[in-house]
Amino acid sequence: MDKKRSLDTICIQGGWQPKNGEPRVLPVYQSTTFKYETSEQMGRLFDLEEDGYFYTRLANPTNDAVAKKICDLEGGIAAMLTSSGQAANFYAVFNICSAGDHVISAATIYGGTSNLFTVTMKKMGIDVTLVDPDAPEEELEKAFRPNTKAVFGETIANPALVVLDIEKFARLAHKHGVPLIVDNTFATPINCRPFEWGADIVTHSTTKYMDGHAMCVGGCIVDSGNFDWEAHKEKFPGLTTPDESYHGIIYTQRFGKAAYITKATAQIMRDLGSIQSPQNAFLLNIGLETLHLRMPRHCENALKVASFLQNREDVAWVNYPGLKGDKYYDLAQKYMPTGTCGVISFGLKGGRKAAEVFMDKLKLAAIVTHVADARTSVLHPASHTHRQLNDEQLKEAGVDPAMIRFSVGIENADDIIEDIRQALED
Ligand SMILES: *Cc1c(COP(=O)(O)O)cnc(C)c1O
Repeated sequence: MDKKRSLDTICIQGGWQPKNGEPRVLPVYQSTTFKYETSEQMGRLFDLEEDGYFYTRLANPTNDAVAKKICDLEGGIAAMLTSSGQAANFYAVFNICSAGDHVISAATIYGGTSNLFTVTMKKMGIDVTLVDPDAPEEELEKAFRPNTKAVFGETIANPALVVLDIEKFARLAHKHGVPLIVDNTFATPINCRPFEWGADIVTHSTTKYMDGHAMCVGGCIVDSGNFDWEAHKEKFPGLTTPDESYHGIIYTQRFGKAAYITKATAQIMRDLGSIQSPQNAFLLNIGLETLHLRMPRHCENALKVASFLQNREDVAWVNYPGLKGDKYYDLAQKYMPTGTCGVISFGLKGGRKAAEVFMDKLKLAAIVTHVADARTSVLHPASHTHRQLNDEQLKEAGVDPAMIRFSVGIENADDIIEDIRQALED
């Protein structure tokens, strides 16, 4: 698809490009495997000498079409779908890190990613330093080590709603010869395209706004193709020296700009196998077809709800980067001038207990372990998603124990506000 087409058009028509007589709508290739005429033809696929499908763990036409759509939305060169956002973030990092390596990550990240980085990856011998994303460059500089292989952050942190200064992080990462990986789940490419600000790899939990209807858990990794792995050869032997598990292929030599994503597919996905099911990719694609319509409405509604909360006596604080006066308003205006996301967070003067009472009284907003879909939902991070963190760790992740995470849907804003009002007053 022509890269110059607008995001709206890519949402609808990107990815699947039917040829003469083929289905207009992306079909679900519900098949584990693909048939060939000769044994030699299939052999060439195994050698990565020819493009083609042979086993869905490695590639599937439905998944590829959806990955292509997300890739075009982000302005990347290639993308891979994964079974979840967790798998996407793990693969994105593990593709270039192994035991003995080090990663720097913003501390204000999703609780699941924080666990992955500080508990599970630690067991694998990969050390992750969590840094305050708002710290000045000189301070962040100190976190780098000779074995640092990547820098990680979220465009808008879930649930802290901290906006990442992507240019600052990209500058630091590149100064030290490593890529910046940005989880763009909350902003989506409709509101922010991290590659335009220097990020090298973008990840998504497609479970959230991209799917948009809370139907399928899924993830995606997009490669900008911009990072020069060869220029930092010694840091990335997995990409720049022969892969013995693939007949001695050197990814950077054989695949050039697509080295990173090819390795992620041909080696990491082959060996770890967290593929997205084609059925889920099909449903994700339907979600993507309205992403450009839903995101502005989420943002518009969230701004109305945030403004309402801000003016209430019983509300202690409101975080929403789209709200004037918010700590991250200026950064949000720079990186996301058309809108941020539909998620807001706030604390009641009554603290943790009042949060629980309030949530139980909501009628329209549902208590669910989910954010960022068409239906308004609510969650108390300290009792739910972040319950494994102690108060000190909560603070580090930017989570006040009283914080209510409110995911504003695309219903009528007045109805959402009325639901909040009655839960606070009645
Ligand atoms: C939900 C989420 C994830 C994890 O994604 P799953 O699809 O639930 O595995 C990662 N990053 C962010 C920012 C998220 O919101």
